[in-house]
Order: sequence, then C-alpha cells, then structure tokens
Amino acid sequence: MSETFESEAALQRRGLMLVLSSPSGAGKSSICRELLKLEDELAMSVSATTRPRRPGEVDGTDYYFIDQTEFQLRINRGEFLEYAKVLGNNYYYGTPRTRVEEVLSGGGDVLFDIDWQGTQQIADAARDDLVSVFILPPSIRELERRLLSRAQDSAEVVAQRMSKASEEISHYREYDYIIVNHDLEESVAKVRAILTAERLKRDRQLGLTDFVKQLREGR
Ligand code: 5GP
Repeated sequence: MSETFESEAALQRRGLMLVLSSPSGAGKSSICRELLKLEDELAMSVSATTRPRRPGEVDGTDYYFIDQTEFQLRINRGEFLEYAKVLGNNYYYGTPRTRVEEVLSGGGDVLFDIDWQGTQQIADAARDDLVSVFILPPSIRELERRLLSRAQDSAEVVAQRMSKASEEISHYREYDYIIVNHDLEESVAKVRAILTAERLKRDRQLGLTDFVKQLREGR
C-alpha cells in the first residue's frame, strides 16, 4: 500500500444528508437533477408517496407510487426515516430508511427533496448528519409562471400550490442555507459549494486524529 493511499484511507468521510426544500415550482427538481449528474458521491433518496403518478413520472425513479394501505403498513413497520402528509395536497410522502442507511454507511452522501416537516424529523433524529438548504423563488410572479409552464398540473392544483407557497416559505428560518434561485447553473454551483464545505468539516473526516498524529511525527 502506498503512503498516499494510506493517508486517503485514513481520511474517509462520514456521509451527510443534503436536504433541499422549497415551495413547489421554485426549481428544486432541476437543481437536484443537475447535482446528481455532477456529483459522483451523491445518491438521490427516492421517496414513497400516495400521490397519483403525473404524466412522465417513472415508478421507482421519481417516486415509489403506493396506496394508502401499503403506506400505513410501512409506517407500522418503521420503514420510513421520516414521513408526512404534505400540506396543500393531502397525500403522504415518506423516505425509505434502508437505502439512506446503506449509502451513508458506505461514506456516500444522500440528496433529499422533501418538505419542512420531513426536514424537522431528520433534524430531530440525526442533526449532525443533516445539511439543509431552502430554495426560494426570485418572486411570487415567477413561481406562478413556472408552475403554469410546467403544464403537469390542472389550474386548480396550481392555484392550491400558490396558496401554500407562502406558508412553506415561512419555514425558511429552520434551514442552514438559503438560495434564491435566479439562475439554475448559479444555484447548482452554490449547492455544490455548500456540499464541498460541509464535506470538509472536521467532524465528518474520519481518522483525522491518526492522520494528524502521523503528520506531526513526521511520518
Ligand atoms: P410533488 O408532489 O410536487 O412531487 O411534491 C410535493 C412536496 O412533497 C414537495 O415539497 C416535496 O419536497 C415533498 N416531498 C417529496 N417526497 C417527500 C418525502 O419523502 N417526505 C416529505 N416530508 N416530503 C416529501
């Protein structure tokens, strides 16, 4: 084993949980997509939901689409790391625990697109591993424009989402970082900067004590 390899092995990281939340239409999904393309050590957490599938969505990729009975069963079995009835649409959404634990224990990071209720639950369970980012739209007018141009939802659903936006936005203070999404590329760069800094935090770098000891002993 070369000396460099020994040092790298000593400096393995503990994985982190990167949560992105926003009112729907603020551009969070596009940011997630770009991040996953650019960040090798980042895996998306695919949630389960009772919401019906939208055109173009793929089961097992966008969500695991399950019915209410199955969702309740999984709650009872403790299979969710967090779950919530998302306000504004009354469907259940939850994060399957197993995959997250697998990625984290392998030293990888997990990306979550979840709401403030789920973020609070993860904060209560594992604050040290959580890095939370709230994405704000540049304006309410722009938010509405994005929701309408998406054309996935009926006018009624868009109106519902707009009326919930201000309530969701009120939770921004509970997050570690805030990004106003003026431009996709710029916002992605900002999230990557956060990720890089958080990965370098002393407590996330395992084996640091031994590594520094070696350095000080001139090895
Ligand atoms: P949509 O129905 O537009 O895909 O998502 C609606 C909201 O549910 C979004 O704000 C999204 O972040 C949130 N959401 C998606 N999956 C989860 C989850 O597993 N847990 C929680 N708490 N919220 C979720």
